[in-house]
Amino acid sequence: MNEHSPVREIKGIGEKTEMLFQKMGVYTAGDLLRYYPRTYDIYEAPVPVSELEEGTVAAVEGCVFGSVQVSPNRKLQTVSALIRDLTGTLKVLWFRMPFLRNTLRSGSRIIVRGRVVNKRGGLVMEHPEIFQPVEKYQEKLNTMQPVYPLTAGLSNLTVMKAVREALEHIHLQRETIPESIRQRYHLCEYNYALRGIHFPADKTMYMYARKRLVFEEFLEFLLAIRQMKEEKETSVNGCRMEKKQEVDDFLSQLPFELTNAQKKVWKEIRKDMQGDYTMSRLVQGDVGSGKTIVAVLALLEAACNGYQGAMMAPTEVLARQHYQSVCEMFEKYGIPFRTELLTGSMKAKERREAYERIETGESQIIIGTHALIQEKVNYRNLGLVITDEQHRFGVRQREALAKKGNMPHILVMSATPIPRTLAIIIYGDLDLSVIDELPKDRLPIKNCVVDTGYRETAYRFMKKQVEEGRQCYVICPMVEESEAMEAENVIDYSTMLSERMGPEVTVGYLHGKMKQTQKDEIMEKFAQNQIQILVSTTVVEVGINVPNATVMMVENAERFGLAQLHQLRGRVGRGAFQSYCIFMTASRAKETKKRLDILNHSNDGFYIAGEDLKLRGPGDLFGIRQSGLMEFKLGDIFQDAGILQMAAEAASSEEIREFPVYGRADRDNIHVL
Ligand code: ADP
Ligand code: MG
Repeated sequence: MNEHSPVREIKGIGEKTEMLFQKMGVYTAGDLLRYYPRTYDIYEAPVPVSELEEGTVAAVEGCVFGSVQVSPNRKLQTVSALIRDLTGTLKVLWFRMPFLRNTLRSGSRIIVRGRVVNKRGGLVMEHPEIFQPVEKYQEKLNTMQPVYPLTAGLSNLTVMKAVREALEHIHLQRETIPESIRQRYHLCEYNYALRGIHFPADKTMYMYARKRLVFEEFLEFLLAIRQMKEEKETSVNGCRMEKKQEVDDFLSQLPFELTNAQKKVWKEIRKDMQGDYTMSRLVQGDVGSGKTIVAVLALLEAACNGYQGAMMAPTEVLARQHYQSVCEMFEKYGIPFRTELLTGSMKAKERREAYERIETGESQIIIGTHALIQEKVNYRNLGLVITDEQHRFGVRQREALAKKGNMPHILVMSATPIPRTLAIIIYGDLDLSVIDELPKDRLPIKNCVVDTGYRETAYRFMKKQVEEGRQCYVICPMVEESEAMEAENVIDYSTMLSERMGPEVTVGYLHGKMKQTQKDEIMEKFAQNQIQILVSTTVVEVGINVPNATVMMVENAERFGLAQLHQLRGRVGRGAFQSYCIFMTASRAKETKKRLDILNHSNDGFYIAGEDLKLRGPGDLFGIRQSGLMEFKLGDIFQDAGILQMAAEAASSEEIREFPVYGRADRDNIHVL
């Protein structure tokens, strides 16, 4: 077995498991080794019942007290028991494990470990792991257990076993970092790093493993950027465009005037496209600053010049939204170009027809997801490529789209709040434009951080907003274990909320497990105000634009990164109405309050990200990532700014230039073990 062997060849993986792995993007043994844990579970010593804190994961040692009950509810069969120690009694619930009734004996000693939640005013432990006899807990005490990203049917244990098996049987020979650089920056060997990231013996091992892998990730990325920059510097503008009057006419018909910041950025883009060299420009602007219209202007100018323009969005919902708003605008202002939508969920026939219109040039503006860079898509004369919400895409995808044309202009749109100094390292190949101004009609969003006792008040508030004609988002508690559980959660929550709101209010829901057509339908209804309250997972996080929505309520806000919360908040305050953001938190920890308070006092994404970092400090090993900023698997440009700096230094060193792996022009090989 080697890194390229299909996962199927790993002992214990059958056809069914292989399919589940494939769903998660794991095809080969090498993929599996790079399927890093999402976090680690540290098994700490049991705590007395009286000291349990809501919202935490804890272990409790005690006796099963009284009889074990099975609820008659068929939909979600629940087993409940009481565990008692010297300090108190704790209610414990298990889902879908009716057989526990026969295995848990009254009076027997037990250790349970799980999440403690508040149910109807009392603390309850949900679905804990059971250790019986209690000595079994000793084996796990203080260990770091990897927690992998999962999907329904794929258990953490399955992944652990497969990784262990792969680590044991694959002989790894790769070393991609020159010895001298490893020594200079105290980076461990690749083999050690892989073991350490999956099964760290302790925190030190984990730290070294992670440092090495993050360094490598950054290094690879920076080298790719450097290469793009070198290519660009020599690239003469092959898609030279002229200023078109039609674009200015279109602009003058819009219901609003561009902000000064938008005007400035549009001017820069226009100048680039007319200039001597191919454009590579990053447009950075906080959520709601109006990046889309700038992109549309660029697409229109390209089309007027006889070129095709493509815009790639990170999700289908977002791609569709862009597509619809462009179609509407073009229809309204009599723009004669055909816009095409291309997404993965389209039917084969639809897609074939779209391919054909793209190939013949019948469609001039193409909007879509990753589907835009599929092999089968041939563009007639692609002159402009835009990627929206860049942090979801990699350099490689950006490049793949650019390769579809003959050196098209490149425009990248991002709401990621990065300080300028970092942006220069990370987007070294791009010129930078900043939209640092919100449209005039915007009122600052009002924020509050509240505990769960405020929930009823929040519901009343939302109802009032709906009565005034507005709409609301509720982001459901995050369930990290699996998408299926998350879906269930969203459905239950929306049922509850619907009852609470009464028949006049329509509550809809959205989650990652839904089919694309269902998601689109719901988003469409929400956009039309046929749904007033949308309960959702973070799938609404990126880019969605419904200006009539004025309330964003986030449950379990403490579990999100501040940058992500800021993105969520950006879903409201997009129109002229006063908007509100309610961060609900179950955690009474002081730290939580302090972190969330940063959001409470600022609506400035740049400031927020910086403060979050300061507060958590570099020692926060398992802190919440700032949501998927950039494409890094492990690295976090904020948290690991120090490593990024080192990698930037290394990237321009002589040793790297001479090192065989990177010396090769073919960068794609770097990813292969
Ligand atoms: P983002 O920068 O987050 O992508 P969008 O481009 O989606 O923001 O714009 C948010 C909203 O602001 C949209 O409804 C858009 O029509 C509107 N908008 C954009 N520019 C202006 C402007 N200059 N004046 C008023 N509204 C604007
Ligand atoms: Mg946007």
